[in-house]
Amino acid sequence: MTTVDNDIRLSTPTTNAELVDPFGRHVNYVRISVTDRCDFRCVYCMAENMNFLPKKELLSLEELDRLCSTFVELGVKKIRITGGEPLVRKNIIELFRSLSRHLETGQLEEMLVTTNGSQLTKLAPDLYSAGVRRINVSIDTLDADKFHAITRWGRLEQVLEGIKAAKQAGLKIKLNAVALKGVNEHEIPTMIEWAHDQGMDFTLIETMPLGDIDGDRTDQYLPLSKVRADLEEKYTLTPNEYKTGGPARYVDIKETGGRLGFITPLTHNFCESCNRVRVTCTGEMFMCLGQDDNADLRTPLRAQESNEALKQAIYEAIDRKPKGHDFIIDRNSKAPAVSRHMSVTGG
Ligand code: SAM
Ligand code: SF4
Repeated sequence: MTTVDNDIRLSTPTTNAELVDPFGRHVNYVRISVTDRCDFRCVYCMAENMNFLPKKELLSLEELDRLCSTFVELGVKKIRITGGEPLVRKNIIELFRSLSRHLETGQLEEMLVTTNGSQLTKLAPDLYSAGVRRINVSIDTLDADKFHAITRWGRLEQVLEGIKAAKQAGLKIKLNAVALKGVNEHEIPTMIEWAHDQGMDFTLIETMPLGDIDGDRTDQYLPLSKVRADLEEKYTLTPNEYKTGGPARYVDIKETGGRLGFITPLTHNFCESCNRVRVTCTGEMFMCLGQDDNADLRTPLRAQESNEALKQAIYEAIDRKPKGHDFIIDRNSKAPAVSRHMSVTGG
């Protein structure tokens, strides 16, 4: 194959062809981490003393806009802004406001956010007016002491106030909780009922082996197959075909009238329908959350004012999207499957 300028291939499409990987999966969903920093230190996500990236390493808001807009040109319909905690990035609302032009043209269907909720009291109305309609809020317990123990630095009250403000602003909220053995295990039904009472979907996530943390992950790992079996003793669960384009599988709960999602990378492999890629706040694109292969998008982004080199780099990377991840958590392999933290690649 002929190569020019930093291995940019001549054979990759030069028009705005859609992104299709070697397994025929259309990539139309991008999750972008806008910062690796966070105002919490959740025990399964980060060590307490994290070394964060120097600010100059991060893509500027203008670069993030160019990157997102290029993905939109290549057929991406959904962009999720995540982190770290995306809403602690200075002036982040400017990015939402500028990207809303793609919602107006209809090229972008949805702009979403995953947040810990700490800044929603302040920012929910701005998110809504910039065109965000759905957000995910992560909350692992409704017990203030446990919340503090899990997040180390977080306050439950602040997040509950944020959820209230987001609802008042008109945002539709889905709650995400990581299932943690012996921590929130027995609180799961209470949380489901609380969420469903207020018309919020609720999704449970299995802990994934991403990045070194201060403890041992096998202590935290609670398979959702077990949680589901326990819930089935209490409720009537009916599988629901509802899809958000994400990896969650949903059930309806007859008794609460609400929807419950399961994200089970370890007990159930969801790779065959994967339609997404992730970009870190330094512009590294990961084609799979559970693999280390990545593509540098910052260099082509900074090399030219035009977006052609960037598009080539994206096409090349999509050509390398792997079939699936290799996660495993067991007593014999205590090292994380991939060394970067979830807060780097974004959840
Ligand atoms: N700070 C925001 C938040 O907490 O929602 C956005 C980023 S956070 C990395 C995104 C999601 O990843 C959260 O729901 C969090 O609970 C989840 N998460 C973080 N580390 C995880 C891990 N090792 N395994 C599974 N989920 C994890
Ligand atoms: Fe921060 Fe979210 Fe990670 Fe918790 S899960 S430490 S809120 S990035």
